Amino acid sequence: MDEIVIIGGGPSGAMCGEQLARAGHAVNIFDEHLAWEKPCGGGLTYKATEHFPFLLDNPHPKKLVRHVEIISAENQRAKLDLKHPIVIYSRRVLNGFLLDRAREAGCEVHHRRVQQIDTSSDKPRYCVEGEWHNVDFVVLASGARNQMLPGTRALSADELEMTQGYFVPQSAEEIIIKFLPEFEGYIWSFPRADHISLGICGSMASHTSTELRSHLHSFAAAEKFATENAKFYSHVLPSPQVRTLADRAVIGRNWAMCGDAAAWVDPLTGEGLFYAMRSGELLGRSIAEGCPELYPSRVRASFSLELEFAARIVRRFYRGSFLGCSVTTRMVQFLQRNAVFRQLLSDLFCGTQDYSSLKQRVLGHLGGTLSQFVTSVLNFEKPTPKLRRTVPAAD
Ligand SMILES: Cc1cc2nc3c(=O)[nH]c(=O)nc-3n(C[C@H](O)[C@H](O)[C@H](O)COP(=O)(O)OP(=O)(O)OC[C@H]3O[C@@H](n4cnc5c(N)ncnc54)[C@H](O)[C@@H]3O)c2cc1C
Repeated sequence: MDEIVIIGGGPSGAMCGEQLARAGHAVNIFDEHLAWEKPCGGGLTYKATEHFPFLLDNPHPKKLVRHVEIISAENQRAKLDLKHPIVIYSRRVLNGFLLDRAREAGCEVHHRRVQQIDTSSDKPRYCVEGEWHNVDFVVLASGARNQMLPGTRALSADELEMTQGYFVPQSAEEIIIKFLPEFEGYIWSFPRADHISLGICGSMASHTSTELRSHLHSFAAAEKFATENAKFYSHVLPSPQVRTLADRAVIGRNWAMCGDAAAWVDPLTGEGLFYAMRSGELLGRSIAEGCPELYPSRVRASFSLELEFAARIVRRFYRGSFLGCSVTTRMVQFLQRNAVFRQLLSDLFCGTQDYSSLKQRVLGHLGGTLSQFVTSVLNFEKPTPKLRRTVPAAD
């Protein structure tokens, strides 16, 4: 595969392009906006900075935040100190930085919208400004609103979240996360180098945009965020279900998807930047090695089992209850009282604790009620009983 076109120059497309160009491919990246302030919190956890150290080691403006305040639906508050900071970028800065890396590796970056693709013959084609061009492979890195679906299906409402927010011209030193009653999602305030990204995300199948806006405005007023002159944004965010991760095609014979287009987002937290960059990297490497078909299994080995775990518990986390109180409220109460639990949440927040190995840690270190609480949210399966033989063994 000599010539590759990448549709979308966000984190997934830029990372994929960088890998391919370094391996000697001719890569054209098309983005209708280039480096733009894509609606986003812009927060990257330690999981991301550990794997991509250049995210910390560069001169671009960013904010390193080590403190988080978590507020329950009933306004109880708990503080969390993070061992590793969350690094928060403006998306204009982050996208520009990643696109520069792709250019330096040899990609051609074009400020154009791709109108259509056609993958029906061996050599796929794409159309820009009414002109069709042939290539060897098409990468769809065009985000959550991607409409190009060669051989796969669109995401349905229960696989998406709505988001709304403001870029508020204020400064702050800590992240705020606020839960709401009977609400599948949360409000966040992410301080950046020169403003705050304040926003709300909620399941598209369960909530309306009016509901989101009303929650956000009440919170902004209560916490004294000045949204009057702030720029408003809204966007969609993939929120994969187990079936999305298990069954939705993300690759065909001459195309593949990465990042939000492939729905690689943690449905519990909405974290997508790391998965966008990592999937772009894995796809780029798989194509460069001449075996794009290995991409899905590499993603599975790297992170999609974690996303599946999150998809299994997300409803219980936001809608469930424990000892007569919502799970999120109980979580805040335990955070106020228990240092071991604070450490556990801090590690989950940083990304140094994954979901799948939580069981050992919880059962080993948390006592009584707290252990029951975490176990009930995570719904750890009891060990499967050994299968009984149906055919009696011959004596
Ligand atoms: C409000 C909000 C807050 C978020 N906060 C966080 C957070 O704090 N931390 C985190 O980890 N994740 C967060 N996410 C998720 C994160 O933003 C995404 O997972 C990430 O941007 C995905 O990267 P991507 O490259 O796959 O897609 P995008 O970043 O969406 O990039 C897709 C690119 O494709 C371009 N494009 C689309 N169609 C075409 C076309 N036809 N032709 C040419 N160009 C095209 C677009 O211009 C865009 O630049 C948030 C998401 C939202 C909506």
